[in-house]
Amino acid sequence: MVKAELKAMMGIDAEPVLFKIFRWRKAMPQYIIGHAERVADIKALTEKHPGLYLTGSAYYGIGISDTTREAEATAKKVVATCGGAPVAPEA
Ligand SMILES: Cc1cc2nc3c(=O)[nH]c(=O)nc-3n(C[C@H](O)[C@H](O)[C@H](O)COP(=O)(O)OP(=O)(O)OC[C@H]3O[C@@H](n4cnc5c(N)ncnc54)[C@H](O)[C@@H]3O)c2cc1C
Repeated sequence: MVKAELKAMMGIDAEPVLFKIFRWRKAMPQYIIGHAERVADIKALTEKHPGLYLTGSAYYGIGISDTTREAEATAKKVVATCGGAPVAPEA
């Protein structure tokens, strides 16, 4: 996979002189097999409950950029459902 990526990105197709694989077990989490189907089920169940919104890294992407994108989309849905722009609380 790394060789394929190096070739695609940088045109390098030479065989490595040496390599070693490091697996960081406590690195960024990964979804387990069946995630897409599970999330589709959760989405279908959630849609039966208007006003209930789920967001966060558990659903449509683990990284911060995915989470931020989803949070913004969810916030827009909440505002649309509430019928207007959010109102700041009184001081
Ligand atoms: C080891 C590791 C490395 C990572 N590295 C990267 C990286 O390099 N780049 C990248 O883009 N992303 C990385 N991530 C992913 C990134 O951390 C997540 O994308 C991001 O934190 C998800 O934000 P979130 O708001 O969905 O969840 P979280 O950040 O987990 O926030 C959820 C919050 O809700 C709180 N909470 C939970 N239950 C309750 C409750 N019942 N009541 C009140 N509060 C509650 C929790 O305490 C927590 O503060 C990494 C994650 C891990 C674990």
